[in-house]
Amino acid sequence: MPTIALTQAPVQDLTEAERVRIMAKTARFNPPPARLADGRRELIGLSRAELAAELAAIGEKPFRAKQVWHWMYHQGATDFARMSSIARPLQQTLAENFVIGRPEAAVVQTSIDETRKFLFRFRDGQEAETVYIPDRQEDRGAVCISSQVGCTLSCRFCHTGTQTLVRNLGAAEIVGQFMAARDSYGEWPSPRGETPRLLSTIVLMGMGEPLYNYENVAKAMTIVMDNEGIALSRRRITLSTSGVVPMMDRAGAELGVNLAVSLHAVRDDLRDELVPLNRKYPIAEVIAACRRYPAASNARRMTFEYVMLKGVNDSTADAHELVRLIAGIPAKVNLIPFNPWPGSAYETSSGAAIDRFANIIMDAGFSSPVRSPRGRDILAACGQLRTESQPDKAARAS
Ligand code: SAH
Ligand code: SF4
Repeated sequence: MPTIALTQAPVQDLTEAERVRIMAKTARFNPPPARLADGRRELIGLSRAELAAELAAIGEKPFRAKQVWHWMYHQGATDFARMSSIARPLQQTLAENFVIGRPEAAVVQTSIDETRKFLFRFRDGQEAETVYIPDRQEDRGAVCISSQVGCTLSCRFCHTGTQTLVRNLGAAEIVGQFMAARDSYGEWPSPRGETPRLLSTIVLMGMGEPLYNYENVAKAMTIVMDNEGIALSRRRITLSTSGVVPMMDRAGAELGVNLAVSLHAVRDDLRDELVPLNRKYPIAEVIAACRRYPAASNARRMTFEYVMLKGVNDSTADAHELVRLIAGIPAKVNLIPFNPWPGSAYETSSGAAIDRFANIIMDAGFSSPVRSPRGRDILAACGQLRTESQPDKAARAS
């Protein structure tokens, strides 16, 4: 059973007593057990070592784990009967003990711009959204994955932030979103090496704060990156955080994926209001963590995300201050026109204001792409995701 991240304090500073206390406090946000009511164990989401241990428990040798891994993550098999390198009697034993699942796609909507949004329902009935954003010119695209049902943080401009945290998603549910999206496009077996893929990058920019569910996210990304399975390189994965400073260090050291940081304001008073986590980890600390992020280089820049809110954070003075703050960091600045949602209190900056802002950043030598909104018609754009899941609705599977 994956445990949840000890994310509320710098991990290295925790005493055993604090660790136990935090575990107890966060346990209610754990994903449901990965065992079905009939006793069968879900195999998706296990590390290679855990998979080998499950198979050893039914008397199978380690090479079986390698075979099953290949079928699950390279071939995309969900049925043991398809595993032709495994003899029929063993296929049956596997099917009696295990299951290879996917979250149920409760609703699938495709936008006029071809963005596809999935509402996934997990075993306990809780729901989260995943969005596939195809490139319109080439055979590639990004899968935007959720890490939590709801979010503990409440950024003022974000729809997800209006939904309280229901629970963390487990590693199986995080990998499962990607696998189910691939099912929807029939993209199996996993393309090898540089072979073009329709679902070619993962962005952890859906619902939730990935660094507040670090253990499950890390486990899921390790599975996705495994060369004998889905084999997506760490360069094709971007983790977006609102600035959980201690966990940024850990993600850099352990995962080495691309980092995107939701900055959105250049003054602490304004960022305190827009991204309340700033009261805990203020701008200077977030920027310092970006400076020491190991996976950022000139060849692999990190991203600062900056939502453009009319009259709030879009002045030329803000742009100049932004440039001053990030000077010397190998980075690009992604300007995101604010995407409205029912009841939201902000307006999108004008095109002219966005251009002015982008030019100042570009003149300072940073690339500053403006993210064109995708899937707005189906509420699939950045910050528009939200589900009806609530803590008290949780009918936990046992
Ligand atoms: N919790 C993480 C990742 C999910 S949000 C984070 O905050 O970084 C992904 C991005 O969408 C973040 O940069 C977030 O600030 C931005 N976003 C949230 N609401 C938005 C909205 N209404 N319009 C545009 N971008 C938004
Ligand atoms: Fe949570 Fe990110 Fe939305 Fe903030 S922007 S409420 S951290 S999902």
